[in-house]
Amino acid sequence: MRLCGWGRYPQIEASPHTFESGEELAALLARLPDCIVHGAGRSYGDAALNPRVILSRRFDRLLDFDPQTGLVVCESGVSLKDLLEVFLPRGWLPPVLPGTKYVTVGGAVASDIHGKNHHLAGCISEYVRGLEVMLASGEVVRCSREENPALFQATCGGMGLTGVILTVSLQLQRTASAYMQERLIPCANLAELVWRVEEEHGAAYSVAWVDALAKGAFLGRGLLILGEPAPGGGLRAPAGKTWSCPVELPGFTLNRYSLALFNRLYYLKAGASAAARLTTVDSFFFPLDRLRHWNRLYGRRGFMQYHFVLPQAAGLAGLGEILARVAAAGCGPFLAVLKRCGPANDNFLSFPLAGYSLALDFKIQPQLFPLLSALDSMVLAYGGRHYLTKDARLSAEVVRRSYPRRDEFLQWRERLGLRRKFNSLLSRRLEL
Ligand SMILES: Cc1cc2nc3c(=O)[nH]c(=O)nc-3n(C[C@H](O)[C@H](O)[C@H](O)COP(=O)(O)OP(=O)(O)OC[C@H]3O[C@@H](n4cnc5c(N)ncnc54)[C@H](O)[C@@H]3O)c2cc1C
Repeated sequence: MRLCGWGRYPQIEASPHTFESGEELAALLARLPDCIVHGAGRSYGDAALNPRVILSRRFDRLLDFDPQTGLVVCESGVSLKDLLEVFLPRGWLPPVLPGTKYVTVGGAVASDIHGKNHHLAGCISEYVRGLEVMLASGEVVRCSREENPALFQATCGGMGLTGVILTVSLQLQRTASAYMQERLIPCANLAELVWRVEEEHGAAYSVAWVDALAKGAFLGRGLLILGEPAPGGGLRAPAGKTWSCPVELPGFTLNRYSLALFNRLYYLKAGASAAARLTTVDSFFFPLDRLRHWNRLYGRRGFMQYHFVLPQAAGLAGLGEILARVAAAGCGPFLAVLKRCGPANDNFLSFPLAGYSLALDFKIQPQLFPLLSALDSMVLAYGGRHYLTKDARLSAEVVRRSYPRRDEFLQWRERLGLRRKFNSLLSRRLEL
């Protein structure tokens, strides 16, 4: 089958293998020379790609739930959408939610995902009380912060390279409502945006849309979106309307003129709308899920998300320099999202560190690659790093210089014989 990540770049021919039990998976691992797990395929680049992939989506049973504590135990192919459908009406919410609910719990842990609350709540691994991981030999090992902590730290954020996560014990968070109180704050430029982000540091959820095409005095103008769980409204909210992008659009549909127009209209419309409003959990956390297959908007060649984080001290200067370089290059991006991150954790390859993360979605085009190479150097110079789950093109050297525990991860993989069994296009390119 033809397989790709969410960015539809790169694409490869892969043979898929499925499993529904630990025994079936062990038999597969014994038979396959090397492979990688593929969850819902929402990583953007090549992290879940290999000529042989193990699909986890049929390994999707809820195994246990304690209604007193909110601890759920599930198989790794369960999606966040499944958890929301079952547990939100009972007053429980996954503690960390990414920008789409169509990800598996296994994929979320393997990327150690963060959400709009990272500045206060950290990554999903903070709420993982235990994992069962199948190693290359077929042996199943339990790990947590207390039990086999090195396996836990390597697996959370380990991009499927430490084995197959079989089950996850996840602490859900109490909620009184399926609604959110949302506030929108238009900011005229980057300095104002960063200042408002800091001012509002106490908000439970915080994310900013940035007009990455704006230049000069308007450089970095954007819209800060803040959210708090609503105190009421009930635990069931109507499902929002969804649309689907039925075909890939011609690549020229997204050009610098259509993007600039979209950004201007979005900024003006949002600025004119009510400053505070009640919205559903779904539309607050997953606005992009309303347009199914929106990745087809970028045309046949696909797109790439360039997602990096800069330390807080580098914040305004670093972001300003990078945004100016992007705006001058004239190749997009279509979407730009800024988040305030809290402190880094001690997992080997987790992405966030205390500072600002910026995610830029670019259509694939020849002039993009030199631009991104130049941005890599700027990110490194400011002491930042890139998010592996979004990546399809970084060099091994860039990752070596920005992930301080990368060599430890590598040695560890070597020692357990994992490099012979679990590989992806990403791990080969980054020499992990
Ligand atoms: C619209 C959109 C918005 C997003 N927003 C955010 C965000 O706000 N924050 C954020 O952190 N991420 C975000 N992401 C990225 C997404 O959360 C991660 O890429 C996540 O890992 C995808 O899960 P998946 O099930 O699709 O995994 P896949 O894409 O299939 O795989 C991702 C990685 O996890 C590994 N993996 C999957 N299942 C297992 C398993 N059972 N055992 C071991 N390894 C496994 C794979 O080998 C691969 O390395 C977003 C993605 C999209 C498309």
